Parts: sequence; structure tokens; C-alpha cells
Amino acid sequence: MPEQQIQSRRWHACEADETLRELESSAAGLSRQSVEERLARHGANRLEEAKPASVLQRLLRHLNNVLLYVLIAAAVVTGLMGHWVDTFVILVVVVLNVAIGFVQEGKAEKALQAIRHLLAPHAVVLREGRQQDVDAAELVPGDVVLLASGDSLPADVRLLQARNLRIDEAALTGESVPVDKQVEAVADDASIGDRLCMGYAGTLVTQGQARAVVVATGAATEIGRIGRMLESVEQGTTPLLRKMEEFGRIQTLVILATSALLFLFGTLVRGMGTGEMFIAAVGLAVAAIPEGLPAIMTITLAIGVQRMATRSAVIRRLPAVETLGSVTVICSDKTGTLTRNEMTVQEVICAGQSLEVEGAGYAPQGALSVDGAAIEPAALLARSPALSALMHAAALCNDASLHENEQQWTLAGDPTEGALLTLAMKAGLSPTNLHVDRPRLDVIPFESEHRFMATLHATDDGSEVLVKGAPERILAMCANQMMVDGEERPLELELWHEKVEAQAQAGRRVLALARRRLPGNKDMLEHADVASALTLLGLVAIIDPPREEAIRAVAQCRAAGIRVVMITGDHGVTASAIARQLGMGDRIQAITGPQLEHMDEATMRRAVAEARVFARASPEHKLRLVRALQANGDVVAMTGDGVNDAPALKQADVGVAMGMKGTEAAKQAGAIVLADDNFASIAHAVEEGRTVYDNLRKTVTFLLPINGGESLSLLLAVLLGIALPITPVQVLWVNMVSSVALAMVLAFEPTEADVMQRPPRRPDEPMLSRFVIWRIFFVSALFLAGIFGMYQWMLSQGATVEAARTVAVNTLVCMEVFYLFSVRYLKAPSFTREGVKGTPRVLVAVFGVFALQLLFTYAPFMQSLFESEALSLFTGLVVVLAGLAVLVILEIEKALLRRLGLGL
Ligand code: ATP
Repeated sequence: MPEQQIQSRRWHACEADETLRELESSAAGLSRQSVEERLARHGANRLEEAKPASVLQRLLRHLNNVLLYVLIAAAVVTGLMGHWVDTFVILVVVVLNVAIGFVQEGKAEKALQAIRHLLAPHAVVLREGRQQDVDAAELVPGDVVLLASGDSLPADVRLLQARNLRIDEAALTGESVPVDKQVEAVADDASIGDRLCMGYAGTLVTQGQARAVVVATGAATEIGRIGRMLESVEQGTTPLLRKMEEFGRIQTLVILATSALLFLFGTLVRGMGTGEMFIAAVGLAVAAIPEGLPAIMTITLAIGVQRMATRSAVIRRLPAVETLGSVTVICSDKTGTLTRNEMTVQEVICAGQSLEVEGAGYAPQGALSVDGAAIEPAALLARSPALSALMHAAALCNDASLHENEQQWTLAGDPTEGALLTLAMKAGLSPTNLHVDRPRLDVIPFESEHRFMATLHATDDGSEVLVKGAPERILAMCANQMMVDGEERPLELELWHEKVEAQAQAGRRVLALARRRLPGNKDMLEHADVASALTLLGLVAIIDPPREEAIRAVAQCRAAGIRVVMITGDHGVTASAIARQLGMGDRIQAITGPQLEHMDEATMRRAVAEARVFARASPEHKLRLVRALQANGDVVAMTGDGVNDAPALKQADVGVAMGMKGTEAAKQAGAIVLADDNFASIAHAVEEGRTVYDNLRKTVTFLLPINGGESLSLLLAVLLGIALPITPVQVLWVNMVSSVALAMVLAFEPTEADVMQRPPRRPDEPMLSRFVIWRIFFVSALFLAGIFGMYQWMLSQGATVEAARTVAVNTLVCMEVFYLFSVRYLKAPSFTREGVKGTPRVLVAVFGVFALQLLFTYAPFMQSLFESEALSLFTGLVVVLAGLAVLVILEIEKALLRRLGLGL
């Protein structure tokens, strides 16, 4: 069918089989060749990204800034006064400022771009009769896709089969109540919201399953037509940056007012010339405003985001970077996040017999033994009807499949089910043949809420339901148990509970398997069919060992003052045993979902303050837990993967969605997506979050006192009525060149060794903490002393004002360099091997700045631009010593603060 026709066809008014026919597809999906042809014809299933702002627009955006207005005004006035050199330098600074903003924006944007592809959606399609997981961009019209709850629709589709399907179409229609979908065609003129047999790209499956055929991809989809892009990474800023921006704005206004006052004071009180005073006032404004700060803070944040991405934590919402640093509790799922999710059945227990199973992983190789004696699979199944029935149920009540490739067995589907398949194969069964011999007539799929799965199969004289699930659920549905010899006897409930408990104590996950024979030819399975009168076939005990790296990460979190809480759907005893193995504590008592239900708010708040493990918990419990923790003042990171976890993920301070097994709904709700589903990556993200905060604080602590020292020197000179120790253009040189180059290093600073040994930062702790404010004042005073002292010293030696100013500028830059070494460790000593060595970045910046200062001092063109003069070697040495003094004094200050235990 030509592209035009596919696009204009009103598929909602077309019956399902007719749609398939017209799209030249089939229930088994497309062939590979036809997919390639269609991909070439229709293009990738991708929306064009919003057109980026043009270079001119971006440049203008960076020009729109109070500081630049001041500078441009200053350039105009100095030009009118005939100070051409000043005009030129000021204009160069304007250009530099815009350029820095421009480049940093590009850099930050690139960092975010780079992680966007990590969030690319996937789709499950049927091609040539085989189920495959493909990149959603590869879908073409005619592809048959499988949808399950939590999926985001990858394209516009016409439903072929649907079971309890509900779709949240708010992204498209704005309607927030999910819509019940059906397969029957609707009227030709139905509006989008009424097209019940259709699904649209970007909407979310909230419940049920479906099979559907793709009718439109990429720009041809409804969402593509309205040209709206679903953002995978949210842009924006963070509360901290916003606060700093506001602080910057107020600071600028205060500085401008002070400069104006200074101008009045100089002209009216001191009787200085307006021209001279204007230059001094501009100098003060320029000296006091930290021009590079906003740009460097944004870069620091972007670098943090990039670093987290390389450690498998993809940030979707920027504020999370900051919040991570103050997380006090991490609530984590167990299976697959704290454990490896490589499940292996170790024991099978029937009434009167238990079978040990060897082997690891999904390879169906491993000896079977009963009471220590090895037994051949064939003999086992022949001798024990109960075990045989259990193995059949394990293979048939199962959606997973195992594939062998070069002796490597890989699993497609749920690991618990994979373990059961491997078990059945070790017992000599062939799941593929079994599925052909005893086809499935219907299924109640597994969902965490009801914790079981059931399938319906035909037998010679009726039908049979096979059920597997959490033991307490299944035991409650059973009336009988099957004995080893196949005889059915009444269920010994107590005995079974004891057996479950014994297995769980060892940290094993236990599943019960049961069946029920139904008379007549049923072809639909209802919950009532499995609610009672089942016959228990036995239990399987599965191990899922903790991840090594999770054990380390848990220890790291404990050292960092972060509590780790496990929230799992698994059995309480199993969960507690695993928690012990993870080093979460020795005396761990799990609280179960049903217990939570009986707690009121106050009891719950007390419980969450202590408990480490919540078992048999459902997504609603997660939401209540987050709220209770937050009410206790905790900052909570919470993991989730299912569609029902979305509310808890949104409620948490940092919602962490699983990138591999997580549903699209969870990913959209999370602030972070874990590329590897691994708990250790959350700990890494916290570490990076704390580092980002540290680096932001270092940048602020670095830049503000430099501006403070400069402006104090200028103010003092005007108040004393003496010549400025540094001219405005020289101040601009320092601020725009050496300060920015040195401060930029701080954005890339590596993590300090003790980052994960400190308690979490209080979320309300201001960036300008008492410590930072103290440092700003103290270091400003040091800078003032250095600049003024050296300037006066030179004058007292009979030097010209120009030479004295050159010394003042060089002293300032030299102090900056040494201060950088100090600030790299805010409170820890800098005189360590690591500290003195610096990093390659530090060294490059320092040598760069050194070379530029040589140019500034000795190059004739710089001398004429900045009125600088060549200095003697001796003077140079004194300058370096003055710089070194800053470092030494600050080391003494750090030691004193530590000695006195002044946390500040
Ligand atoms: P998490 O720790 O991430 O919450 P979980 O796997 O422990 O995950 P669920 O997946 O909700 O939690 O499983 C809860 C219980 O349901 C399991 O302990 C098991 O008894 C049972 N179960 C798990 N998977 C299946 C399945 N595919 N079929 C039937 N029962 C299952």
C-alpha cells in the first residue's frame, strides 16, 4: 500500500483482520526483508527534535544580562571620553563573556544530548513468528507489537487482541482517566478519544495486555502531526542554581548602587574629576561582580550529570543531582537490584520426598538426587507422579524461553520462570514440545498484586489449570496435596508452612505449584476457577544470591550515614535472610505488607524509622512508606520498575527507575534511570551528587573572595583618596582570564576521599553556609592585604604607579593560584602528596595562567593595552611568596578549625 494511502486510511473504522490484510502483514508479523523495505520507504520511527535556537538567537540571549549592559554603557562613556584603550578592553570583555556563556551552554547541552540516547524506548515485536525486543525507532507500519502494562506505545497502532487493556492518553488528549480499549472497529467520524480500537504513540498502557499492528510511525503518528516532542530528559535548572542566580541579581544591584554612591562620594566629597571617578566606579562594579560564576556552576552541574551517566545513572530531572547529595534513606527493590536476578532452583519438595538439584545459571545441566542418592531424570519422573506433574506445571505455566547459542544459555523473560524452565529441562522435559502437545487455552498473567500465575490446558477428558505463585497465596487456594505416588490427600497446611519457612530462612525464594482438573471443555480462565480446590504439587526453592557490588555499596551507604531499606514482594523470611547477607544488619525483622495495612500514621512513622526490610509489599505500600519516611524528615530515594510504582517514584525525593526491567511508565516517573538496574549505581550516583555539590561550593568559595578582595582594594583606595592599585581594565583581565580558567578546574574536580564518610547534607543547608561566609570574608581580607600591601610596598620602593599596579595584578593572580590549591580541599589539608601534585587539569590551568601573566607583564602590546611594566626577578619572587602565604595561612586556619572542632 503506498505511503500516502497508509497515512490517510481511517484505521479505526477498519476491522482488525482487514487492517492486517491491507497493511500486507500477518498475525506472525512481517518478514525481515519486508521490514527493511518499509524502513527505507517510511523512515525511522522517530520524531524530529525541536529545531535548536539559531546561533544569533543564542548569542542575543547571552547578551541579555545586566552586567553586560553596564559594561557596554561603560565602553560608550569611556569612548566618548576618548579613553580608547579602555573602550577596546571593555568591548573585548563583553565579547569574551558572551563567548564563555555560549560555549558553556553548548557543553552542557552536549552532556545532556549524550545521555538522551540511553533512554531510547524499546518495543516487543513479532517478526517471522518470533518475539523480539527492538529499538522503537526500527518499527515500521505492518509490524505486530506486543503491549503490556507499563509500556509506552512506540507508534500508532490498531489493536488486534486486547485483554483488560487500559491506556492513559493524557499525553495526547489531556484526558487523565485511562481509557478501556477494545478490538471492535468504531464509527468513521469518531474523535481520537473515542477510537477505542486504536493506541497512539506516547500514551501509556496502565493495565492489561494487547497485540496490535503498527499503522503509523514517526512524524505520521498523531503526536508527530501535532509536532509535540516528548522530552526524555527535562531541561532546566536546579533549586540551588536558581537561588544562586537570584543571589547574583541582588548582588549586582547592590554593587551598582554602591558604585553610584562611590561616584557621588568621590566627586562631591573628595572633589575628584568626574571622568576619573566614573572609571573608578566602573572598576568597582567590574571587580565586585563574579562574571564567570553562573557559567561555571552550570558546567559543574553538566559535568556531574555526565559523570553519573558513565556510572549508569541517567539523570532525567536536573534537581535530582542536588537532592542526591542529601539523601538519608535509599529504599530499594530486592530482586535484580540488590540481588543478581540469576535464579536457580536448588530444591524441589513434594509431599514425602525432596529432590536436590545441582548446577548454576540457566544451562539445563545439573544432576538430580533424592536423599543424597543420584537419580536419572527418566527414572525419577516414572517413579514419582507428583514430581512429574510438578515439572510439567513448571514448564507449562511459564512465559519464559531459553535459547542456546554456542553453549551459552540465555533467557528471554522473567528470571523466576527461567529457573523453572531450566528445572523442567534438567528433569528431561522439552518445553517446546510440551507447548505443542498441550497448547495453552488461556492465562491469568503474573502480577505483583496477586502473586500467582495460572494457565489453562486441554486434557483428554476436560481441562486442567496449572498454577504457580507465592506459597501462602497458593496454599490458601489448595484443598489437597499430591503424594509421591500420585494419590491425593487433604492438605497438611501447617507442615507446608514449616517447609516454606525452613527454605526461606536460607534466603531462598519459594514458589508453590498446584493444579486443578476441571470437567468440560473450558476455554476461558477466571479467577474463580483457581480460588479454591487446587491440589498442591509441591514447592520449589530458588536461590538468587546478593550482588557482590551491592554488598560493598550497602556498607558504603552505612558509612555515609544513609539507611538502606529493602522493599520487596518476596517472603519476609527470605528477604530478611538476604538483607543479612547484604550486611544490612544482624537482627533484621521484616515488616510485611499485611502488617503495614493495620498501622495508623503514627505507628507507621515509628516503624519506618527502625525497620530495614518490608516484605510482601505492594506498590501502594511503597507510596505510604515514602510518605511516612518524609514525614520523619528523611530525604528518600526510592526504586521502582512497574507501572504501579510510578506514584511512589514521583513522591520520593529522588525516584529511581530501572532502565532494563523497568516499564516506560516507571522511567517517565523517575528522576533517575539506572542503566544497569544495580543498587551499586545508586550509591555511585549519591557519591557523584555529593561531589557536584562540593564542587559547586568550591567554585563559590573560590570566586567570591577574589571579587571581594578586588573590590575592597578599590573601595579603600577611593576612600583614602589615593590612586587605584588595579585599574578597571586590569580587573577585567584578571576576572575574565585567570579567574575563569582556574575556577573551571573546579567543575572537573574528582571526588574527595571522605565524601562517603560524611553524614548527608541537610537539605535546607544554604550554599553560603556559615563556613563559606567566613571563608569569603577571611580570604577577601587576605587578598585585600596582599594587593594593597604589595602595591604600597612597591610605591615605597620608589616604583612608578604602573609598576606597582603590575605587581598588584600579579600578586592577585598568584594568590588565586595558591588559593586554588587550598580550596580544592575545603576543610581537609592541601599539603598532602595528592594535594600538591594536583591533577593534569590543575597543572594545565596553572601553567596557562602563568604564561598569560608573563605576556601581561613583558609583552609590549600587553603593556600598552594594560599599562603594565616589566618586573625584576626579585620582585617576581616576592610576588610568589605573597601567593604562597595565602596557602600557608589557610592551612593553619584549617588545622585550627579541625583542632578546635569548629564545624562552622
Ligand atoms: P522486588 O524485590 O523487586 O519487589 P520480587 O520479585 O521479590 O521483586 P514480585 O515480583 O512482586 O517481587 O514477586 C513476589 C512473589 O511472587 C515472589 O516472591 C514469588 O513467590 C511470586 N512470583 C514471582 N514471580 C512469579 C511468576 N512469574 N509467577 C508466579 N509467581 C511469581
